Amino acid sequence: IRLHCCTSTGCRAASANEVYNNLKAAVKEHDCGDRLEVVSVGCMGFCGQGPLVQVDPDNQLYAQVKPEEAESLVATTLGAGSTEAEQLDPEHPFFAYQTPVVRKHSGKIDPESIEEYIAVGGYESLYKVVHDMTPADVVKEVSDSGLRGRGGGGYPTGLKWATVAKMPAGQKYIICNGDEGDPGAFMDRSVLESDPHLVLEGMAIAGYAVGADHGYVYVRAEYPLAISRLQKAIKQAKKYGLMGSQIFDSPFDFKVDIRIGAGAFVCGEETALIQSIEGARGNPVPRPPYPAQSGLYDCPTLINNVESFANIAHIIKQGAEWYASIGTENSKGTKIFALTGNIRNNGLIEVPMGITLRTIVEEMGGGVPDGEVKAVQTGGPSGGCIPKDLLDTPVDYDSLKAVGSMMGSGGMVVMDQNTSMVEIAHFYMEFCREETCGKCVPCRTGTVQLYDLLTKILKGQATEADLEQLKQLSYMVQETSLCGLGMTAPNPVLSTLRYFPEEYTSLLVQPA
Ligand code: SF4
Repeated sequence: IRLHCCTSTGCRAASANEVYNNLKAAVKEHDCGDRLEVVSVGCMGFCGQGPLVQVDPDNQLYAQVKPEEAESLVATTLGAGSTEAEQLDPEHPFFAYQTPVVRKHSGKIDPESIEEYIAVGGYESLYKVVHDMTPADVVKEVSDSGLRGRGGGGYPTGLKWATVAKMPAGQKYIICNGDEGDPGAFMDRSVLESDPHLVLEGMAIAGYAVGADHGYVYVRAEYPLAISRLQKAIKQAKKYGLMGSQIFDSPFDFKVDIRIGAGAFVCGEETALIQSIEGARGNPVPRPPYPAQSGLYDCPTLINNVESFANIAHIIKQGAEWYASIGTENSKGTKIFALTGNIRNNGLIEVPMGITLRTIVEEMGGGVPDGEVKAVQTGGPSGGCIPKDLLDTPVDYDSLKAVGSMMGSGGMVVMDQNTSMVEIAHFYMEFCREETCGKCVPCRTGTVQLYDLLTKILKGQATEADLEQLKQLSYMVQETSLCGLGMTAPNPVLSTLRYFPEEYTSLLVQPA
């Protein structure tokens, strides 16, 4: 029997390390190490209920486990006692609607053990590509799967890979973008903390497909556990000959280095990220040329985000057809969301594309604790607020865009009836004002002016003319900024103006 104890950041914040240590001590005390193993695992998803402990193979799940409950939990598992620890129904709606692909082994294996990753089929896909597939086969498989970039843009992954693969042979790079900076988002952190080898394997497969022998994972410094688990994973992969030269006795060489970002939101923009890896200030640069043509050190560079790479080994193993059978016509596969805000059940969910917002919020999330849903914000500072009337919107790239929001990287914040939508717009604009790199005028000064106008409205000092200026300035910043940060910064303002105009007008100075 295995006792899986989540030791990822969310559960750690609720004393999971103490629970883990006490479970180990209890096993020692009961002298039952031959029958019961305590395993430190990654995120199980239901972060709001942490620390979580799961009994494998019985699938009992204990929530909000207290360190002092560890002994009775071990005794109960051995059939020699009872525990006060709260049990969760494994069929709970929070889990029932999920389709784990990327998160299949998350919370079930020790992320610091390459042996556990290999035991569940890890690195078999890498073996398969270097021995049984040509690079062109791999690119075709990824294209046929319909995978689109999970970092927010939704660009077809296979097309990106094909562009880099077609560039003349020579030095090429793979970059994994782990600079997750949206308020409320922690999908990539969780994947890196819970299954780092899955990301490394996806990067190596990408390297083989496009002809790159060197990869970088760019992770923000605020993710120390993700960084340390990645460092261990890289060390282990090297030891096992899965990283370095002649991988699986093939001519394929691939190595990965980590670059730690200082926490600038703009470094999630791919050209800024490249600048940062090169040691320069993380400022975006105009495109073209695109990184796929001329990226890191002016070499063709493939950049995908953490979740995109984490899908690859599964696609290679189970096939493009299988992957494309999940989701909708234009949005294939699954997506991980960080479900947070005024919601009963919060945490990480992996759902098939096309599921409705209503199912996520009302069924999986259990609705708003006291009252009702007012809006759901998706896409972070680049996204928009979707009102409750549109909760039947399917969650896919096109449908979210059609209602004025976006998929983004996966932040999903639920708001209740007490939320001021003007304050929400103000909050996100403050974030963008702080995070603008200042390189181009529309974003540098536009975000400041938009923030000041929103402040004026909130203070009850604004007029109709100010409101009109807010709209026009939003359009101008959207259309004339250099990079995605500026282009999308006005989205929360425009979506709240579209769906909640009365909240703005009620705050205006009334004509005498
Ligand atoms: Fe910098 Fe904003 Fe211009 Fe992007 S849009 S380059 S973040 S100032």
